[in-house]
Amino acid sequence: MMNAGKFPTFLIAALIGVFIGLAAGPAAHAAELLGVRFGPNGEATRIVFDLAGEADYTLSGDGTANGRLLVNFSNLTVPASDRVFRPGKGHIERYGFATGAGASQAVFEFKKTAKIKEVFMIEPQGSVTKYRLVIDLVTAGKKDFLASLPQEFPDLTAVIRQATAEEAPLPALPTPNPTPKGATAAPPQPTKRQVVVIDAGHGGRDPGSQGQSGTYEKTVTLAAALELAAILKKRGDYEIVLTRDKDVRIQPDKVEERARDVKADLFISLHADAISKPAVRGASVYTLSEKGSARSVKLAKSQGDLEVYDLELQGYDQLVGDILLDIAQDETSTASSNFAELLITYLSPKTPMLNRSHRTANLRVLLAPDVPAVLLEMAFISNSKDEANLKSRVWRKRSMTAVADAIDQYFDEHAGQRLASNQSEGAN
Ligand SMILES: [Zn+2]
Repeated sequence: MMNAGKFPTFLIAALIGVFIGLAAGPAAHAAELLGVRFGPNGEATRIVFDLAGEADYTLSGDGTANGRLLVNFSNLTVPASDRVFRPGKGHIERYGFATGAGASQAVFEFKKTAKIKEVFMIEPQGSVTKYRLVIDLVTAGKKDFLASLPQEFPDLTAVIRQATAEEAPLPALPTPNPTPKGATAAPPQPTKRQVVVIDAGHGGRDPGSQGQSGTYEKTVTLAAALELAAILKKRGDYEIVLTRDKDVRIQPDKVEERARDVKADLFISLHADAISKPAVRGASVYTLSEKGSARSVKLAKSQGDLEVYDLELQGYDQLVGDILLDIAQDETSTASSNFAELLITYLSPKTPMLNRSHRTANLRVLLAPDVPAVLLEMAFISNSKDEANLKSRVWRKRSMTAVADAIDQYFDEHAGQRLASNQSEGAN
């Protein structure tokens, strides 16, 4: 199959232009491309990257022709022989790689338009020493394809740059393309802006729970976190810090380091619940119980027709590792509860809620004890309607706008209280 042409120069330039806005992350390790395989199966096509080493990747795409799927690697070496277009199989007409500055981008041009159903990385197991990145596609219209892409990165890059310009030691992000809109230079702020840390639950090797149609929790939490960050950024009153901006698992100590360094005023962790009963749906908000020293993640008994169940927190446990908030100070606990109630007030008209939406639990929430923190289970990914909501841009925008409204009101009410609580010693 050597009849493939070289990558046109202009195309490489265009791709790298796109890519600059996407590459991110520590990239402490390097991976090497071993090959790309296809598993065509009627209305579905599986793409498998065989990799030596674990690659950091993000997905993007556009509506060119039948649509193009772009897989952006920040640390992948691609042999020169692969930097050509080759014919694909199944939904893929042809594919190729563009490379530059240690980063690579795979381009898949659709023969038949499809949407992304699942993306996951398989680590080496047994005698298999390579990593495999798997992307499952199913036939769908172009609109569905675009909606299935995880996020809009260029805007996010600007969000993070602005939010972390002053003090947050986040990993260096590449310089985005200069935008003539004047959004890059933040105007001087006469007063300190409130720092809101948004934690997209799970990520990378920790996918969280999974919906009936295959949606991963880590995907919907990231999409929601990016949406919330964009909304809050537009309002201009906040410094936004995201614990992750792509599909990676952040090391617990890094999360802690970041959260403390940015001196968060509010911490919100986004998750999607799962339970064996598929009929259960709705959002709920968790705050640390006042005696939150135990490491149990069992959820307290709920009222109504819901039974006791285990909050899906195993992956989250892994994520935060040994970072445990042992004792919540009284005022912090009260502030967290106030914020939780505001969240429920604003979310209730916008999305289904569990019948007792505010719960306290012995959550392992990171951060210093003087930071009000909540965990929002946006919906049940195990419920098909909730899962559809979690994947919907319209729903995401609506519900995250409600969260932003709650944050606005919280800081309206707590502007003075924050000063008082900040006088306490943060780290232990
Ligand atoms: Zn979760």
